[in-house]
Amino acid sequence: MRIGILGCGQLARMMALAGWPMGLHFSFLADPGDTGDCVKGLGDLIEYPEGHESLSLSSLAEQVYESMLRPDVITVEKESVPVALLEALKSHCSVYPDPKAVRVCQNRGCEKEFIEGVGASMAPKLVVNTPDELATAVKELTLPVIVKTCEDGYDGLNQWKLDSDDDLEAFLSEHKEIAESVVEKRVDFSREISLILVRAADGRTAAYPPTQNWHEGGILRASFAPAEAVDESLATQIEDLKERVFGNLNYVGVLAIECFVVDGKLLVNELAPRVHNSGHWTQQGAHTSQFENHLRAICNLPLGSTAVSGCAGMVNLLGVEMDAQKALRPNAFFHTYNKSVRPNRKVGHINLVAEEAQVLRAQLTEMLGEIYD
Ligand code: ATP
Ligand code: MG
Repeated sequence: MRIGILGCGQLARMMALAGWPMGLHFSFLADPGDTGDCVKGLGDLIEYPEGHESLSLSSLAEQVYESMLRPDVITVEKESVPVALLEALKSHCSVYPDPKAVRVCQNRGCEKEFIEGVGASMAPKLVVNTPDELATAVKELTLPVIVKTCEDGYDGLNQWKLDSDDDLEAFLSEHKEIAESVVEKRVDFSREISLILVRAADGRTAAYPPTQNWHEGGILRASFAPAEAVDESLATQIEDLKERVFGNLNYVGVLAIECFVVDGKLLVNELAPRVHNSGHWTQQGAHTSQFENHLRAICNLPLGSTAVSGCAGMVNLLGVEMDAQKALRPNAFFHTYNKSVRPNRKVGHINLVAEEAQVLRAQLTEMLGEIYD
């Protein structure tokens, strides 16, 4: 079977690494200018056809499908993909997840509307298009807030925290025009957790134990699972959220939901229609990794167990040099993405496994200190 992936970054790399043992073959569609270093040696790297801007959607889809060597299934490794092309590719092969789900997640405004629509809770928010609307929204929501553009935002990019009237004034004087944005009340969360879920084509679903995440400057720094203190009430909210989301999206594949826990209440932050950085620990920590389960789902194969023995964690390597010699321990596993190092760039991660949460946590802290202090 051949899998076509739109994108050729580290998530595509890790999907391919998980798929090879199952006999899957891969084609990657690179964005213009992307060298495809992450997926070198793992499949066929395809560029957009020459003059693609002037092609009709159906000819573009046909050419892409042919140049990707007629994959059986097409999937995505990032949100910023041309949804119209994805939709058009459906006339050639299966496309999972459905482009409609990708579209919902591409725009924060639509995403929040979807979350609200399924009856899930989130931080109070307003969508704005002008500086005046933004000022009014801040007044209504009250400070502190966070402003996030609806599109082109990831890893904390295109986000501004406003704590005081002075911050608001400075923001307004710097931004005479603004792109469509969500103004969101800042919540005082006790923890950030994410849910890595998977749904198969036959509707069966599975979930990994909730992951607890630590972000620094809007970028994921470290995770561990199972998250601490998931009591009965939180577990029920998690299960309910999973039902609501999957019940309203005809979804196939892995889906991640980032959440805040505020006074024991689960608030949804955002959805990611793909394998997710906060699920990387599953490579060594779970019986089946998120990457393998995504492939199993989109290939209509039986899902693998999401069970965990003991606990697991992950430290992201953000803009830091590291090699296997330095990273490896008996219970530590090194993953590099074959990328050059730039400030804050995700270039790899280290997974840890342990029997006991306390031991794992202490080792995570030590490793973070070694890498970042
Ligand atoms: P990602 O790379 O996960 O897509 P992103 O840039 O899209 O990230 P968010 O996940 O919305 O942005 O926000 C990044 C981080 O900023 C969150 O993980 C959280 O730590 C903090 N944050 C975002 N929204 C809020 C909020 N309403 N209240 C408090 N903290 C927040
Ligand atoms: Mg996020």
